[in-house]
Amino acid sequence: GGPSVIQAEVRALSDGSVFVVVADESAAARVEAIRRDFIANVSHELKTPIGSISLLAEAVMDGSDEPEMVRKFAGKMVRESTRLGALVTELIALSRLQGGETQLDHSVVEVDSVIGDVLNRTATIAEAAGVDVSVGGTEGLLITGDRTLLVTALTNLVDNAIHYSPAATPVSISRVSREGGVEISVTDRGTGIAAAHQERVFERFFRADPARSRNTGGTGLGLAIVKHVAANHGGEVTLFSRVGIGSTFTLKLPSTSGSPDAVTHKPVTR
Ligand code: ADP
Repeated sequence: GGPSVIQAEVRALSDGSVFVVVADESAAARVEAIRRDFIANVSHELKTPIGSISLLAEAVMDGSDEPEMVRKFAGKMVRESTRLGALVTELIALSRLQGGETQLDHSVVEVDSVIGDVLNRTATIAEAAGVDVSVGGTEGLLITGDRTLLVTALTNLVDNAIHYSPAATPVSISRVSREGGVEISVTDRGTGIAAAHQERVFERFFRADPARSRNTGGTGLGLAIVKHVAANHGGEVTLFSRVGIGSTFTLKLPSTSGSPDAVTHKPVTR
């Protein structure tokens, strides 16, 4: 955290006694600073693609009669709009998760079917990047949770593993049962993350390498979403990484007996 702001005030009463009021405003001030920061970040993140789109549209309007150029600009506009759409979708998902508005579905979920969905969703980018995604560990594990959110979280991890790895290096997903829970990890042999950045990558909009993240169409929200999905399940996400060697992100989720009877109740909503 940042420096503490301690405010002290000396007050004198009419009877001549004096007392000192000390207030630690650090927590409230920090929350306010984070909120302001977040809004500034969101504005910036939204304005950048909007700015590009309008510049490109103007260039087209100003009448290049070269169909080649028009097509190229239109292609860029499509990419920027896609980014904008993804950003808005993720912002909404994140704000719901944070505000506790997301009603978590507590069903028995087959880990392998989550992984299957994630493999389908990432197949195109994996193929384009020439990255082979393999699956190892224990088959047939069950957890209690929200299937859609778990697919989203794991997709974000696999997406990153592919994006931040050179072509032809493998990515592996592993699922194991541990301490009454299930751990799903995603390992890459990519760029790795410096120790100084390892905590920060879970912050909204933090990017270790902004240029690279934008090139891959990254929103900077993927890991923040993973962190909140894990937390909402009573679990956590951990990171082990070495620069130049690779990274392992592990989603640790509390398990269930696997009996549907244990999970028929709906979670208490906040
Ligand atoms: P982004 O949209 O930028 O990928 P994320 O929240 O998913 O946003 O990730 C935040 C940052 O963490 C990334 O910009 C990148 O610097 C770093 N990062 C995430 N995953 C990996 C990985 N597997 N290998 C290396 N760096 C990663």
